[in-house]
Amino acid sequence: MSDGREMNDQLTADAVVCGWCGAEFDDPAERDDPQRDPDGDPICQKCYQDEYMYRCCLCGEWEDIEHQHNLLVVARPQGGCPQIRRGVYRIVSVPYYADGIIEWLLFADALKKICPLPKGIDTRGYACGHLCCECQEKVQGGKGVTS
Ligand SMILES: [Zn+2]
Ligand SMILES: [Zn+2]
Repeated sequence: MSDGREMNDQLTADAVVCGWCGAEFDDPAERDDPQRDPDGDPICQKCYQDEYMYRCCLCGEWEDIEHQHNLLVVARPQGGCPQIRRGVYRIVSVPYYADGIIEWLLFADALKKICPLPKGIDTRGYACGHLCCECQEKVQGGKGVTS
C-alpha cells in the first residue's frame, strides 16, 4: 500500500502541465515554479504570450498587454475609415475600433496622429499594430509613455 501512495505522489509531482494547452513543461526550473495565470493555474510561455502579451510590430519584442493600447500603428489605411492614414496614433479614448474588426473600422475620434509611420514597419503585414514600451518612447521622441 505504501508503494501505491508513493507512486501517486510521484505522478502528481511530474504532472505539471500548462493549464491552458496541456503541454508539459520541459524545463525543470519551469516545472518546479511555473508561471501562473490569475487563477493560479500553471501556464506555459507560449500560452502566456498569446494571452497576456503582444508583439511589437517594429522590433518584434514581446510586451505586456497592459502597455498595448497606448499607441496604434496604422501600416495600411483601411476602407472603413478613410480619415485614418498611415502613421502612429495616440489612442485617446476607447473603444477605438469596432468590435472584432480592428483591421477595418477605426474610430477617427478616438485617435490622434502623433507621427508618420516609423521606418521598419512592414506595410505588407498586419494593417494595424502596436509598439513595445521602448519603441513607444522612441516614436514619441523620448517623452515617455503615458497611458
Ligand atoms: Zn500552454
Ligand atoms: Zn518595439
